[in-house]
Amino acid sequence: MPSLPSDIAIVGAGFSGTLVAVHLMRRAEPPLSIHLIERHPRQWARGVAYSTSAPVHVLNVRAANMGAFADDPGHFLRWAQQANVLWPGGREITADSFAPRTLYGDYLTAVLKETTAVAGSGIHLNRLIDEVISLRPDGERTEVRCKSGRSLCAQRVVLALGNFPPGDPLLQDSTFYASPRYFANPWSIDALKDLPPDSSVAFIGSGLTMVDLAIALAEEGHRGPMHVVSRRGLYPRIHQAAAPYPAFLEPESFPATLRQLVRRVRRELHAAGAQGYDWRAVIDALRPATQTLWRVLPLVEQRRFLRHVRCYWDVHRHRIAREIGEKLDELFASGRLAPHTGSVHAYREDDHGVDILVRKRCGEGFEVIRAERVINCSGPQCNYRKLKHPLVTNLLEQGLARPDPLALGLDVAADGALVDGSGQPSSRLYTLGPVQKGMLWETIAVPELRVQASALAKVLLAEREGDDAGAHVDAGRSVGDNTHGGTHAGSKVSNDRQKV
Ligand SMILES: Cc1cc2nc3c(=O)[nH]c(=O)nc-3n(C[C@H](O)[C@H](O)[C@H](O)COP(=O)(O)OP(=O)(O)OC[C@H]3O[C@@H](n4cnc5c(N)ncnc54)[C@H](O)[C@@H]3O)c2cc1C
Repeated sequence: MPSLPSDIAIVGAGFSGTLVAVHLMRRAEPPLSIHLIERHPRQWARGVAYSTSAPVHVLNVRAANMGAFADDPGHFLRWAQQANVLWPGGREITADSFAPRTLYGDYLTAVLKETTAVAGSGIHLNRLIDEVISLRPDGERTEVRCKSGRSLCAQRVVLALGNFPPGDPLLQDSTFYASPRYFANPWSIDALKDLPPDSSVAFIGSGLTMVDLAIALAEEGHRGPMHVVSRRGLYPRIHQAAAPYPAFLEPESFPATLRQLVRRVRRELHAAGAQGYDWRAVIDALRPATQTLWRVLPLVEQRRFLRHVRCYWDVHRHRIAREIGEKLDELFASGRLAPHTGSVHAYREDDHGVDILVRKRCGEGFEVIRAERVINCSGPQCNYRKLKHPLVTNLLEQGLARPDPLALGLDVAADGALVDGSGQPSSRLYTLGPVQKGMLWETIAVPELRVQASALAKVLLAEREGDDAGAHVDAGRSVGDNTHGGTHAGSKVSNDRQKV
């Protein structure tokens, strides 16, 4: 098949890839061809999060702050109100609503469509439904090869690959993972498909995905028992409207160790509580500083955070809408959803189901849970070496990319350039989104991604027009010198990110 003429290829049309395409169309001088490539048709301009069709799957960020553009956070709310969109129950979407995620997918689709319609002549968006399986540098360009056999060439390639399904928790005997009773990808439409209403289901992991699935099942009239196995018995906390709390950590006074940081935040929580503030406001006040805080923590302290604090941070930071929290509480209170604190030790499958042997926390022995289906909700796989993703494998094998030191994603320069196996930032491959978790920690939700998408479009166009301002990692610091999670303080893009 002949190669298509092209300039910029974007792999992945979730929020990140879609918004990079939108910013490119808004800013570029013609001629420019943008190839936006998505492997799953239903995820086109929606990605994993917003391709659900269940109205009960709602956003976990208030509508007022879900606009696709950093300089216009209210854009989504206005769109929903102008379109006169109502909740399934007939209620209007307000600033404080946690709107259905499917509606947010409609919004992203509309933003892409409207931008394409008004793009200048000579600016083309090519929609491709295909899976990119490899990249091959070829002179100034990169050949992008797809599963179908199609290939195209681009001067720049953006990897907007998003979140990957969870990895299988380690077990001595992992044969059960090949069973049709085991569902490794909780976001697949198959996870709840053809489930008899009286059957017993076990969720491994207790985060937002488990909440999504348990509530969706309950709403669909599932009558059978549901179990959740959670290592620490922690569940996402509930959002609550709270008076904002002022920023209390300035870059010049950032604690140098995790212990100091935790103490500082605890002190602030006490002080805030005494003044009548809600704890949520204190956690939210940390958000603008989170990326910077993360980057100044030495690698050893970041590791400590992942071991000891992450699970507490996650449940307090990534909260659920009140309505969803109340439904979850009802499920627990009625016994329809049974919590089990511990870790899976073994699976013993027979013709009718599987016994899950759970080692209880704190050496309290074992318990056995009986289930007919097991769904892995243990959180996105971040270790790129373990991914079964042909493109990622190809990039790592060729040395075009390398994992970050914490194995939370890939090593990425401050402007979004992929860092190769020898520590050099690429001048042709770029990325954004959850892949930067090791470098930025806070890089998964719309409020961060919209800033990254806009900044990356500027970088891509600056390079294309031969203007290297803002298109390189900060001068004077080699990326190979990445001893601590890739700090690139001082560069243009990293400063933009800190404004989130
Ligand atoms: C269930 C869920 C709910 C969430 N809810 C919220 C929320 O309410 N608010 C919020 O701010 N954030 C939420 N998030 C966080 C979410 O990560 C971001 O909001 C955002 O959707 C991430 O977009 P993305 O484009 O980076 O990744 P994704 O949405 O994962 O999109 C990546 C896309 O790339 C495609 N792709 C991957 N590899 C290839 C390939 N080789 N070839 C072609 N295509 C490929 C995938 O098919 C996918 O569609 C949620 C996340 C999840 C998983």
